[in-house]
Amino acid sequence: MAAHWKADGGLMFGVVPKVLWEKHRPADGNNMIDMACVCLIARINGRVVICETGIGTKLSEKRAQQVRLREPEGLLHALRRLGIGQDEVDAVISTHLHWDHAGGLTQRDEAGGLQITFPKAKHFIQRSEWEFALHPDVRSQSAYVTDDFTPLEDGHRGVEFVDGDVEVLPGVEVRQVGGHTPGSQVVIFRSGELACAVTGDLVCQTPHLRVPWTMAADIEPLRVLDQKAKLFEEAEKHRWLLVLSHDPDQPAGYLEDGGRWRPEPRLT
Ligand SMILES: [Zn+2]
Repeated sequence: MAAHWKADGGLMFGVVPKVLWEKHRPADGNNMIDMACVCLIARINGRVVICETGIGTKLSEKRAQQVRLREPEGLLHALRRLGIGQDEVDAVISTHLHWDHAGGLTQRDEAGGLQITFPKAKHFIQRSEWEFALHPDVRSQSAYVTDDFTPLEDGHRGVEFVDGDVEVLPGVEVRQVGGHTPGSQVVIFRSGELACAVTGDLVCQTPHLRVPWTMAADIEPLRVLDQKAKLFEEAEKHRWLLVLSHDPDQPAGYLEDGGRWRPEPRLT
């Protein structure tokens, strides 16, 4: 868990009436609900791979206060606990480049300059996401912060652009699902018969396991419905471990019996 924070409930549940979503996610006096940034650190086939970097540590004090940010260094602390240095990370995959998923890609050094958080890692990003993040539509502008990702390209060769569905490393596959943003991707880790899928904002929290419960920020809502239904069918059939990007309580689990969520207790 890389951070805890709060977001507007209406933003998170879009057209779903508040009387319905509030039963699952009670809102505070400012209509905000509890959120997490869920990141995954994997050792797979001899490599260290990080999936999702969360909000990171660059928010201004004012902005951090607005979103009630706590523990923004969670991912870095978790790495340290595992004895992994930031320069020992081989690959980083964000599901998309919104500020709450890509913020941790860069950090400030002591002089206030920007630096790449995982300097030796390859960063796998959909080309369509990169292009949209640099030239977003007016509604999406506030969700992208160029400081989060442009340093990866400026003077470095830290980005490996991908187009569509690609096995980026042995046992690590990205699938472009779009919908939430043009280049949103689901990341699938496989080891033998086992698979784990990091959903990004295709499925934010457990209430979003209902196919029609989508976010206000999705740029193509109908595509989200299609892609969610497809993912759920596959995940239930093959017993994939799903990791939901923003659930504060039960971020990892399995779908069974036509969509019932069985949380993985070791990962809550
Ligand atoms: Zn998000």
